[in-house]
Amino acid sequence: MSKNNNKYCLLSNDVETTSIWHNSLRDKTGLKVLKEGMPLLLDLYEKYDIKSTFFFTGYIAKLYPEVVRMIISHGHEVGSHGMSHTKENGFDVMPFNKQKQHLVESKALLEDLSGQQVISFRAPALRVNEVTTRALEESGFLIDSSVASQRFDMFMSFGGLKKLNWLFAPRLPYRTSAQSLFKKGDGSIIEVPLSASLLPYVGTTLRVFPFISSIQRRLLAMESSFNGKPIVFDVHPNEYIDEGMEERQFKKRSSNLISSFLQDTLRSQLKVKNLGLSGLDLYEREIQYFKKKSFQFTTIKDYVKQQKL
Ligand SMILES: [Zn+2]
Repeated sequence: MSKNNNKYCLLSNDVETTSIWHNSLRDKTGLKVLKEGMPLLLDLYEKYDIKSTFFFTGYIAKLYPEVVRMIISHGHEVGSHGMSHTKENGFDVMPFNKQKQHLVESKALLEDLSGQQVISFRAPALRVNEVTTRALEESGFLIDSSVASQRFDMFMSFGGLKKLNWLFAPRLPYRTSAQSLFKKGDGSIIEVPLSASLLPYVGTTLRVFPFISSIQRRLLAMESSFNGKPIVFDVHPNEYIDEGMEERQFKKRSSNLISSFLQDTLRSQLKVKNLGLSGLDLYEREIQYFKKKSFQFTTIKDYVKQQKL
């Protein structure tokens, strides 16, 4: 196998009002994302001359339109993260018409705010179902990045069973079938899978298990050299804000005892590790690693354009 010199690192940012500290959606957290998390990320990308993709929920875009506008002059891509990040509005539980309505509405809103054509989508909490492909096609999207091939979540996140599809999804970016985002076909949506090796390669893993991430990054970089698979890394500006001085109002999300322990208690203890500036330092080290290995940092949209998939 020949060595591949076109190694890509696609950094992506999901922008929403989720508070990791309080384990809930909060407008106040959205304001901190705007005032603290976003400027930190934009400065970091500026420092390393990086273009990346930001997926915004329609909710935060409506609440604080500046959060969208502030990325434009830096050359980043605006993508859609749906209208809403609530459990009820997951793309694995909404009927087709509602999915389409959320997609059309978020696309129009983000295009209006940014002046960019919005063609990339990432589902909130990566929850999608069998009609999401058609909903994306019919609302003018061309790219999806909601599939985390070979990521295994067990019962640690919502929509656990559907996410078993991840195990068998193709690893390299692919044109999806019209029936499923998890399968290759001749539909009009290009899937750019998130990086994973059983555990997700995302900001959360980096903060909670930095040692595991340091092994993952080596494996993924090696894979890229051989087959050209882009690194698709996912962070949230709400990881780089500090709400630690606020008393936690912790709300249980599950009534089942075991999943309550896994999803609520365990997760909420772990997920707050290295929030704020120490998390940002870990992220910067990750960026430095791929910079040193001569990876190219670009937006998901530009990557797809260059690949002619
Ligand atoms: Zn999200």
